[in-house]
Amino acid sequence: MVKDLQKYAAERGIKYFMVSYTDLFGGQRAKLVPAQAINDMAVDGAGFAGFATWLDLTPAHPDMMAVPDASSVIQLPWKKEVAWLASNCVMEGAPVAQAPRNVLRKLVDEAAKEGLRVKTGVEPEFFLLTPEGDKIADPYDNAEKPCYDQQAMMRQYDVIAEVCDYMLELGWEAYQNDHEDATGQYEMNWKYDDALQTADKHSFFKFMMKSVAEKHGLRCTFMPKPFKGLTGSGCHAHISVWSLDGSENAFADSSKELGLSDRGRTFLGGIMKHASALAAICNPTVNSYKRINAPRTSSGATWAPNTVTWTGNNRTHMVRVPGPGRFELRLPDGAANPYLLQAIIIAAGLDGIRSKADPGKRHDIDMYTQGHTITDAPKLPLNLLDALREYDKDSTLKAMMGEEFSAAYMKLKHKEWDSFVSHFSRWEHDNTLDI
Ligand code: GLU
Ligand code: MG
Ligand code: MG
Repeated sequence: MVKDLQKYAAERGIKYFMVSYTDLFGGQRAKLVPAQAINDMAVDGAGFAGFATWLDLTPAHPDMMAVPDASSVIQLPWKKEVAWLASNCVMEGAPVAQAPRNVLRKLVDEAAKEGLRVKTGVEPEFFLLTPEGDKIADPYDNAEKPCYDQQAMMRQYDVIAEVCDYMLELGWEAYQNDHEDATGQYEMNWKYDDALQTADKHSFFKFMMKSVAEKHGLRCTFMPKPFKGLTGSGCHAHISVWSLDGSENAFADSSKELGLSDRGRTFLGGIMKHASALAAICNPTVNSYKRINAPRTSSGATWAPNTVTWTGNNRTHMVRVPGPGRFELRLPDGAANPYLLQAIIIAAGLDGIRSKADPGKRHDIDMYTQGHTITDAPKLPLNLLDALREYDKDSTLKAMMGEEFSAAYMKLKHKEWDSFVSHFSRWEHDNTLDI
């Protein structure tokens, strides 16, 4: 654990620190602070004008101070003279309640009070595009069924291997990379960790992936559905809950259905119970709903859910239990805010444990061909507005995420929706003009 950042900088030849925080939209904002100034900054924080923070503050608010968490420090592997620091947002000495990292820290503490430690692995998918962002970067990557395409993956070897090498260097225990189901789409995986550490790594991964892609003259996007007819970019979460000392997986019980303990089952019950509201956080953009409600692509699958169902090792559902002691939530997409994603999982899961929620019947069917036979499971929201309304109705979840956070998030996201619906599309013109 790093305590003296100036000393750390001197030992490693670091000239600048990026004091970074994550806003309500998942954007990372930072100040670049010379190493000589970092120890003072580490106490008081770096100042940001409230209104420009995207934390729902007004021009009249005092400065928001981003106080770096020294334990999160990462020396940029591709620019060693700079180091990144995740920060906690503070105003006049008090935590900014709606700041995503604060929301997550509060829920991690709440889980700890019940003796639980949530560990998650995330599976970010992304596209590598030309710099303008409108075309797939690799012109040869145009196979009808490109999933796991060896030749196509190796054509982007320089970018993928560079990032994977960096993850190994940082001790993240990266273990696999692949070409995904859409042309131009890839996924890279590293080992699961405590929720806050995973959120910090997830944020840093997005920054690193985009930076290295730009270095190679490419553009990396985590946009949920950048192209019509191609599979979207998910960000699945693999969830387990452990004892506080990390020695025992509280989700594992080989005597129970699919090896999921009672706590695992009720945590899952919470996810199922709150799923529609969860979408407001797991699928936070207008574009997100083009992924979860997509028609099947040419490969015959969407790989994204549209109904609140769970099953064993079967990827056509919202939740998959691939083996004992954990489950995969397939709802989140590439736009999900890394901190809010972890926070909402903990909130829903804790409520599930507390209320002994039952996840309901398992549907061991192929949802692509038999999904229409399911009548006892809700459909996921069809658009951002429906998801926001579901979140707004879910008073338990809203309270657990924090009333200030929930109000701020609802306000900014409704504004986003209003901006979208006031936009007139060519489609409307083409399909309505002559009616
Ligand atoms: N790209 C798919 C999605 O949108 C997931 C593919 C996979 O199973 O890895 O969720
Ligand atoms: Mg994948
Ligand atoms: Mg997965």
